[in-house]
Amino acid sequence: MARIETPNRIRGTQDIFGENQRRFATVLATFEHVARLFCFQRVDIPVFESTAVFARSLGETTDVVSKEMYSFEDRGGDSLTLRPEFTAGIARAYLTEGWQQFAPLKIVSSGAAFRYERPQKGRFRQFHQLDAEILGAPEPAAEVELLTFASQLLSELGIGEEVTLQLNTLGDAATRDAWRDALVAHFEAHKAELSEDSLMRLEKNPLRILDSKDPRDRPAADSAPDIDAFLTPEAREFFDAVTSGLDAAGVAWTRNPRLVRGLDYYRHTAFEFVTDRLGAQGTVLAGGRYDGLIEQLGGPPTAGIGWAAGVERLAMLIAEPEAPRVDVVVVPMGESAGIHAQGVLAELRKSGLRADMAFRGNMKKRMARANAEGARFAVILGDDEIAADQVTIKDLRSGEQEKLLAKLAANTLEEFIWDEGFGDAIPPLAERMPRKLAGQVYWALPSGKIVDRL
Ligand code: ATP
Ligand code: MG
Repeated sequence: MARIETPNRIRGTQDIFGENQRRFATVLATFEHVARLFCFQRVDIPVFESTAVFARSLGETTDVVSKEMYSFEDRGGDSLTLRPEFTAGIARAYLTEGWQQFAPLKIVSSGAAFRYERPQKGRFRQFHQLDAEILGAPEPAAEVELLTFASQLLSELGIGEEVTLQLNTLGDAATRDAWRDALVAHFEAHKAELSEDSLMRLEKNPLRILDSKDPRDRPAADSAPDIDAFLTPEAREFFDAVTSGLDAAGVAWTRNPRLVRGLDYYRHTAFEFVTDRLGAQGTVLAGGRYDGLIEQLGGPPTAGIGWAAGVERLAMLIAEPEAPRVDVVVVPMGESAGIHAQGVLAELRKSGLRADMAFRGNMKKRMARANAEGARFAVILGDDEIAADQVTIKDLRSGEQEKLLAKLAANTLEEFIWDEGFGDAIPPLAERMPRKLAGQVYWALPSGKIVDRL
């Protein structure tokens, strides 16, 4: 028989498992937690959109649109693109779903994004982003809100100390026009040193030369004029309001006058949180104000500001999350005990305990496995116990064991584990009375002890 070849995982994609999965989950859970603290609501948007959504919002000449998009024709002949980022899709939804009525709107999203790039450490073709946006707020307080959110997220992930917030202003339209003219004059004078890509940028968007990663461009980019000399009084006042807000909120920042964002739609504020721990892929979270974007999608003038963070890069930086704990393992001795044990196991889980039971194995194997899993307790069930409607509970740390009425097992263990400061799944006191165990309702004391049938 011909050998069947297993298809390969596609280059630049990931199968996220084990410790890596726990890192991802920690990043996402922390993001959701902090988003709630800042009163942002979650939206979920499609993974693909009409190609025009990204082409028009991001700009035809950006790297993302010109080189990195996964675009394809579907069976109906429409040109679709897998989202390379979230902002454009959210802006599209804002218009097509009538979300203007909710402005100013603070929203978050997260999920997969797709870019055809050369895979390397911290750079994938299918990667994952956290995204936060405020639509309909032209005030500098929106910048402060989003940056404070980002800063608290990074702190709660335990990496606040190793990332730096780099901040710049791109000014208003008048500022940008004047600065742009000065940049064109500067780069014209250094044309001979520029890369081919930057010669193209010089025609279409000279600001982007400042953002070039090509080492040939760096000398000319680094000696280019700063925006500061061109800031209008309004643009300067706006930037000052942003920085004093950040100072008041206790968010540390440094000015990086070379910082521009790769996409066409940015105005006023641009920012990146960077670390030196990830080599060339040091930007973990980046964004800015994009007041022109909604108009490019055919909507009315609408203020917008947002950021996106790379989940993979954050996941690499955080401390290794603890392996999930197992509260109790059920150990049946013999076949009939195995069936009976299903009922005990179900009861333990309904009480909010993390309970497991192996599919097979003798008592010795099962106990070894319980220890390997790091379980706190074992509930042992033999024929004697079943006959007496009891279970044996073994404390796997001290080795002590005790026989107990079966119907009290879940409650007793729950109380124990709760007292030890575990039990995140255990409902608060007020919700614990009355309680149901083995199909029977009981009253429980605040301590969790069952006192009587209801
Ligand atoms: P880079 O300069 O690293 O290419 P970018 O400017 O293209 O980043 P953004 O469009 O600002 O990135 O996306 C926001 C964040 O998403 C980045 O700061 C990064 O953390 C993450 N990111 C972007 N592209 C990738 C990728 N291909 N793989 C993994 N993470 C990515
Ligand atoms: Mg990129």
